Amino acid sequence: MTGPESEGLPLRRAVCPGSFDPITNGHLDIIGRASKLYDVVHVAVMINQSKHGLFTVEERIELIREVTREYGNVEVESHHGLLVDFCKQRDIPAIVKGLRAVSDFDYELQMAQMNNGLSGVETLFVPTNPTYSFLSSSLVKEVATGVCDGAHLVPPVVVEALRERLKKH
Ligand code: ADP
Repeated sequence: MTGPESEGLPLRRAVCPGSFDPITNGHLDIIGRASKLYDVVHVAVMINQSKHGLFTVEERIELIREVTREYGNVEVESHHGLLVDFCKQRDIPAIVKGLRAVSDFDYELQMAQMNNGLSGVETLFVPTNPTYSFLSSSLVKEVATGVCDGAHLVPPVVVEALRERLKKH
């Protein structure tokens, strides 16, 4: 065994939170980059009971597991409640988020400051790959209801899942 664990050092952990309904290439880009920087990357699928998703939380988790398997250090779980509690329970000191545009910034800054004030957990912002700066799960769902299946926006298994869910053949 090599790496921090074999040397008795604690594993460096980070979390990528979101609703992932469904996971897009933009999410995947951020998770993949985080997986190169940390020993373990936790993906937290945040449960929002007031929002009815296109995919169930279990389906979202399954899709994320499938498309992140090759990274080898990504763990996917759901979480209901505060993200800082998820972090505390797993000894995670850092939240990694993608910043798409200035429009993301105000809200993300407030959340980062609130989370840090609540628990000391840090938020690290990764600039979005410009190819995906316009991309969101909601846009993907809209596009997928039309003639385009969004194959350039999401991984192939997600295209299939969208086709199945929206019954397009
Ligand atoms: P949505 O994709 O609907 O905006 P999520 O809640 O699933 O919402 O997104 C979770 C997080 O994933 C965002 O806060 C952001 O950090 C990151 N993210 C989402 N889309 C992208 C993208 N296209 N590029 C980079 N990061 C993204």
